Amino acid sequence: MKHVISLLLCVALLFTMPVCALADMNLAAGTYEGTGTGFQGPIKVSVTVSDSAIESINVLEHSETDGISDPAFEKIPAAIIEHQSIAVDAIAGCTYSSQGLLDAVKAALLSAGATEEMISRPIAAQSAGELETQTADVVIIGAGGAGLTAAVEVLRAGGSVLVVEKMAAVGGNTIAAGSALNAAGTEIQKTGTMAASGVEAIEEKLALEPRSEAMQRWQASIRKDLDAYLASGSNQVFDTPDLHKLQTYVDGDYVGKPELIEILCDHAPQALTFLEELGMSWRPQITTAVGATWSRSHQPANVFGGAGSDFVLPQYEFVKAHGGVVALEHKAEELIMEDGRVVGVKGFTSNGTPFEYRANKGVILATGGFSANVEMRMRYNKYWANLDETVPTSNQPCATGDGIVMAEAIGASLYGMEWIQMVPTGDASLNASIANEMYINAQGNRFVAEDERRDVLSGAILAQPGSFCWKVSSAYQAWDIQGGYDYKGNAIESHVQNGKAVVADTLDDLAAAMGVDAANLKAVAEAFDKAVTGEVPDALGRKVFEYKMDKGPYYATKSYAKVHHTMGGVEINANCEVLDTQGNVIPGIYACGEVTGGIHGANRLGGNAIADIIVFGQIAGQNVMK
Ligand code: ADP
Repeated sequence: MKHVISLLLCVALLFTMPVCALADMNLAAGTYEGTGTGFQGPIKVSVTVSDSAIESINVLEHSETDGISDPAFEKIPAAIIEHQSIAVDAIAGCTYSSQGLLDAVKAALLSAGATEEMISRPIAAQSAGELETQTADVVIIGAGGAGLTAAVEVLRAGGSVLVVEKMAAVGGNTIAAGSALNAAGTEIQKTGTMAASGVEAIEEKLALEPRSEAMQRWQASIRKDLDAYLASGSNQVFDTPDLHKLQTYVDGDYVGKPELIEILCDHAPQALTFLEELGMSWRPQITTAVGATWSRSHQPANVFGGAGSDFVLPQYEFVKAHGGVVALEHKAEELIMEDGRVVGVKGFTSNGTPFEYRANKGVILATGGFSANVEMRMRYNKYWANLDETVPTSNQPCATGDGIVMAEAIGASLYGMEWIQMVPTGDASLNASIANEMYINAQGNRFVAEDERRDVLSGAILAQPGSFCWKVSSAYQAWDIQGGYDYKGNAIESHVQNGKAVVADTLDDLAAAMGVDAANLKAVAEAFDKAVTGEVPDALGRKVFEYKMDKGPYYATKSYAKVHHTMGGVEINANCEVLDTQGNVIPGIYACGEVTGGIHGANRLGGNAIADIIVFGQIAGQNVMK
């Protein structure tokens, strides 16, 4: 797997630069090793010192996620050498990797005879510079999946583009994503099979009373296609863009906007091609993301790195290669309005330097959601008992809703802000397809249909003893964990070694490792297998199945409900133009990605966000240039 190779290459990074020796740095010259703990496991470094200075830092080993942790490995060793101190700031967005690295260097320096005092001298704050000004055809706020996709389209249309990004690296929350893009009717999807219970699930949706003209139209077209499918005797996964729309609409509780859902699902298959053209590729099998409710989730082959790297780094490479400018550590704070039109953005760099960037054609907001902003999620939350700081988020710290605040300040309408999604997130990034996973509670029992919506899954987990469950899968048949790597590209074995996952060849041994009742677990697996074959319907009403659980090796990881996605945000029309509270277009401002509201309704299907950022990122970038 390429990701593993790239990890091996990056551990050879050696940081060395001219240093000024400090009289009080009384060290025993030589090379020393030290280890700290990062997000994914140990980080090992070697540090070379003279008798009075830190000379070089060599990162020997780490298993942190590429892309997300890059800024820590790029900046921290250089800063330590420059300042001859480990009192450098952790890098926002990769604080665990930063801390692990700092701890590793500290351990090495202590072995070299340093004292805490010697190596922790305070570093003078950097001073702010003069006002920075620049102009481009389009200014995009946010270098996540949606923003960088829009930037590609601006450049393809011949425009100049300036992307401002508040973090030290691109990628936003997308780069940490659980890696799946929903699209219906692709060649990859045709590799999947469907149990007979899948047809029942569709029939249930077709029997629902239509709540809009669009829903009625979708139901009629699915009926026709389903009848043809049944007549053909096929056991491939049945799907069409209209079924994707119907499920998005119904499972979004009918409050997603049909005209936006129509665009999302019709364009999603082309989103696959868009990324392929930029150099990424897809795994050859279809999967079902958590809460996707259907087998139409496409996973990347990790060409550009682990997790969601393939959904954002291909665009970044294109932008850099075609003259786009990405200004890192530039935080936008205010949209500049002149004569009723948005003409630019103001903000500050990380050292306090003010900037003012102006746009000839328009500004695109692509700042993501607000799952990591406790104050905002508590202010808007209506449905969860509690979303205060004790409730964890799966998101990166950048997800603070800044774009929503900036848009509201110029009179933009906000849509569906109260719809906040929680999702079961595991200790390890170990997700088999939902079609091949069981959720098991502390007693060793299943308690929810695993193909349910994310709010149902999260609510059910919160109600279990200890508010957690185990996600159990068998690597015997489930292709997605057979390769020995999780979806972030990390070896599953490393999770087992770090205690984040357990593995066993038999259900008895697995139950012992999980600390649950073995008789319960075995009975559950037996009933599961009967539902896979259709012998006995699933007692919990689950419809999405693929393989049996009758052979090991089995893996299990603990999973908790975390705040994951904010469905609400800035209201847009089909052109990604931002609307005011009267429904009028605000000239000069567009929005795409998680910052927008109205696409996913009250509940987002797993795998629809990646489709959303690519589809609407393209539309925003194309329309701003028209
Ligand atoms: P999406 O999935 O919608 O693309 P992401 O979370 O992936 O959302 O990306 C949003 C990006 O916007 C992140 O990289 C985040 O750091 C950036 N961002 C958020 N607020 C600001 C801001 N005020 N100024 C500049 N960049 C911002």
